[in-house]
Amino acid sequence: MSDRKEQFLTLQGQTSPYPYLIDVDRAEGLYIWDKSGKRYMDMIAGVAVNNIGHNHPKVVEAIKQQVDKHLHVMVYGEYIQDSQLALARNLASVLPDNLHCSYIVNSGTEANEAAVKLAKRYTGRQEIVSCRQSYHGSTHGSLSVTGNETKQSGFKPLLPKIQFIEFNNIDSLDVITEQTAGVILETIQGDAGLIKPTQEFIEAVRRKCDETGALLIFDEVQVGMGRTGKFFAFEHYGVIPDILTLGKALGGGMPIGAFISSYKIMNTLTHNPVLGHITTFGGHPVICAAANACIDVLKEEDWISQAESKGQLLENLLTDAPGVLEIRRAGLFFAIELGSVERVQAVVEKCLKQGLIGFWFLSTPTAFRLSPPLSITENELKEAGKIIIDCLT
Ligand code: PLP
Repeated sequence: MSDRKEQFLTLQGQTSPYPYLIDVDRAEGLYIWDKSGKRYMDMIAGVAVNNIGHNHPKVVEAIKQQVDKHLHVMVYGEYIQDSQLALARNLASVLPDNLHCSYIVNSGTEANEAAVKLAKRYTGRQEIVSCRQSYHGSTHGSLSVTGNETKQSGFKPLLPKIQFIEFNNIDSLDVITEQTAGVILETIQGDAGLIKPTQEFIEAVRRKCDETGALLIFDEVQVGMGRTGKFFAFEHYGVIPDILTLGKALGGGMPIGAFISSYKIMNTLTHNPVLGHITTFGGHPVICAAANACIDVLKEEDWISQAESKGQLLENLLTDAPGVLEIRRAGLFFAIELGSVERVQAVVEKCLKQGLIGFWFLSTPTAFRLSPPLSITENELKEAGKIIIDCLT
C-alpha cells in the first residue's frame, strides 16, 4: 500500500469499511482527476453536492473576492455581513413568502437539529414525528429522527418522544396529534432508494399538521437546489412546509446547511431562552459568498429546467440494460435497482475501474445511486450510459 493510502487509512478517522480511495488531484465540471492523471466522470456529484459542477468559475471567483475582504469576523447573528445578507436575500427570492427567513448553519444535520428545536420552541410541544427509512443526519438529534434502527443501534438512548410513520401510508398519520411539535420528512426520500411521495400522502400530511398545529418540516438537504427538476422538490407537489432545511448543493461545493421559515416562527428562537440556536461558524462569509454565487448560477443557467429531460435520456438508455430491475428517478437523481447487494458492489467497482463514479445508498444496498451535476451535457450522459451498460453486462 502506498504511504498516502496507509496514512489516509490510519491517520484519518474512518467509518466507511469500503472507502473508494481515489487520490484526488483536481476537479472541474463533471470530472475528477486523480494523482496518476486518471479522469473520472463524477456521476454522483460528491453525493448531490456539486449540482453546478466542480469548481464552477463564478463560485471560485466569489470565494476569492470574499477572501480578500474578510474571513470570520464574529459569531452568527451579531454583525451585518455583505455575503450573509446577500445569501438571505437570494434564498428569499427563490422561496415562497412563508419561507423568507433563513438561518445559515454548517451542515445538513445541524439544519435538521435546529429545525426540530424550532418546532419545539414555536409550539411549546415535545413530540416529533418522522418517517421510517428516512435519513436526516448523523448527530444525535438528527439520528433520533432518522428512521433506521441499524443506524441508531449502538447510540441509544436517543431523543425521547419520537414516533415514526410510514412514508406514503395515510393511515399511519393518526400519530400526529395536538402533542406533536413537528413532522419531519424528506420531500422525496433519498436514502431509502429514492421514494417519491404520492400527491395524496403529502397533502394529507400537510392537512394533518394544519389540523393539529404541528409544524411541517421538509428536509431538502439532498433533493433541493434543482436536483429533481425544480428549485425545490416541494414545488412538484404544491405543498409548502413551515420549515425547510437545505445543505449539500446550496454551498456550491462549500460546507453549509440552512433552516428556513417565516420571520414569526424563526423569531421565537430569540427569547425564552435567548440564543435558541448558536453557531460560531454558521454563515461564514466565504461560504455564504459561494452559496450566493451558486444560487445565481442556478438562476442564470437553464439546468434546472433541463434536469427532467436529461434524466429521462439516461433512464431510457439504462432501462433495458442487463440486470436492471427498476429505475426510480426524480430529475437527475436515480436509484438503479439491481435486486442484489453483490451485483451492486460488482457494478459500482467495475464502473470505478472504467473511470465512472457511482455510489451506494446508506440503507438500500440492492440499488446504486446516480446524481450527476445538473450541468452534465447530453453527450456526457450518453457516454456515461455506455460505460454503465458495459459494466452491467
Ligand atoms: N438530510 C438528508 C436528506 C441527507 O441526505 C443528508 C446527508 O446525506 C443529511 C440530512 C445530512 O447532511 P450532512 O451530511 O451535511 O450533515
